[in-house]
Amino acid sequence: MPGRNHLFVPGPTTVPDSVLSAMHAQMVDHRSPVFPQLVTPLLQDLKKVFRTEQGQCFILPATGTAGWEISLANTLSPGDKVLAFRFGQFSHLWIDMAKRLGFNVQYDEIPWGQGIDPNRVEELLKADAGHEIKAVLICHNETATGVTNDLAAIRKAIDAAGHPALFFTDGVSSVASLEFRMDDWGVDVALAGSQKGFMLPAGLAMLCFSQKALKARETAKCPRCFLDIADHINANKDGYTPYTPAISLLYGLRKALDLLLEEGMENVYARHARLAEGTRRAVKAWGLELCCRDPQKYSNTVSAIVVPQGFDARDVMHYAFHRYNLSLGAGLSELAGKVFRIGHLGDLNELSLSSAIVGAEMAMLDVGIPVTPGSGIAAASSYWRETAKPLAPRG
Ligand SMILES: *Cc1c(COP(=O)(O)O)cnc(C)c1O
Repeated sequence: MPGRNHLFVPGPTTVPDSVLSAMHAQMVDHRSPVFPQLVTPLLQDLKKVFRTEQGQCFILPATGTAGWEISLANTLSPGDKVLAFRFGQFSHLWIDMAKRLGFNVQYDEIPWGQGIDPNRVEELLKADAGHEIKAVLICHNETATGVTNDLAAIRKAIDAAGHPALFFTDGVSSVASLEFRMDDWGVDVALAGSQKGFMLPAGLAMLCFSQKALKARETAKCPRCFLDIADHINANKDGYTPYTPAISLLYGLRKALDLLLEEGMENVYARHARLAEGTRRAVKAWGLELCCRDPQKYSNTVSAIVVPQGFDARDVMHYAFHRYNLSLGAGLSELAGKVFRIGHLGDLNELSLSSAIVGAEMAMLDVGIPVTPGSGIAAASSYWRETAKPLAPRG
């Protein structure tokens, strides 16, 4: 098909040209005396994205899924109790993993489209007077439903309960796009992947451990080998890695971190918020609903859009892909056919995102969903024009 593919799944996201170019480079010896000049600044700059001074970052050749396992295996012992909340496919998969690894998982079922009530976290932790719960697992941004939880409020709830549990957060679709503050929010393990807000191909898991999590590691008895961060702590202190790193991805990460830090993290958050709000204006103009029921929890990285009764969201995706070369995100698991998703994270601006809005609108019309032609993009573009930065006159 002529023209480019418009990639609007919420990961992998479009890789900026400058990042692609940075990765197109010859291999080097990862044991060479100059290799630490790449690794050490990467680990330092990553801390600026996780917003931590106290924590320690790690980069592994892996994906977000490994991040879940790294958090659990490095800090806990077999059979430990953990508290979790199931409200979408990703929170579900983390719970499923914890069970498969033999942890005692206590979890609440929350209807998909809703998020976590911090009062409930406080209540459950208060009820655990014996402090059997060793960690609280929170998916920050549930990519399946487009729901973002308030991590600051959850931290407060843990403190209000006076509970010593570790606070784990899945930030795969939030870190580097949504406001994330490791230190301020007292997060103990934060995990991310390379293919979403970091604008890279998949293949890197990036984590940050607090001092408290690093301390828990010393007594954690879970068997671990490839995912043991002890080997990274040892090798990273001299700027090396315990085994062959994904060198091309590290080159890409160098460039991606430069892009993020040049823009400034506060500006990155604001850009995602503004682009997301334009998308939501489009959804409203179409007369459709978001899967997320609580406006306080609307995700600024992904919108899951519910198709009207009698329609199948997979048909919308089918037309979008085959007619317009537009890749929309699918409804996952129990949302299959009910929603399609627009990922609005990473290397994105008003006009690139417009292609997703226009394409989704055309595909919906093609399958017979009665939206008014042009209504979505009219609403989104009006919002973006109203909120555009003032521009000095030419000349
Ligand atoms: C994508 C995603 C994952 C899974 O990451 P992989 O890199 O596919 O292993 C986990 N959690 C969330 C919230 C995600 O969006």
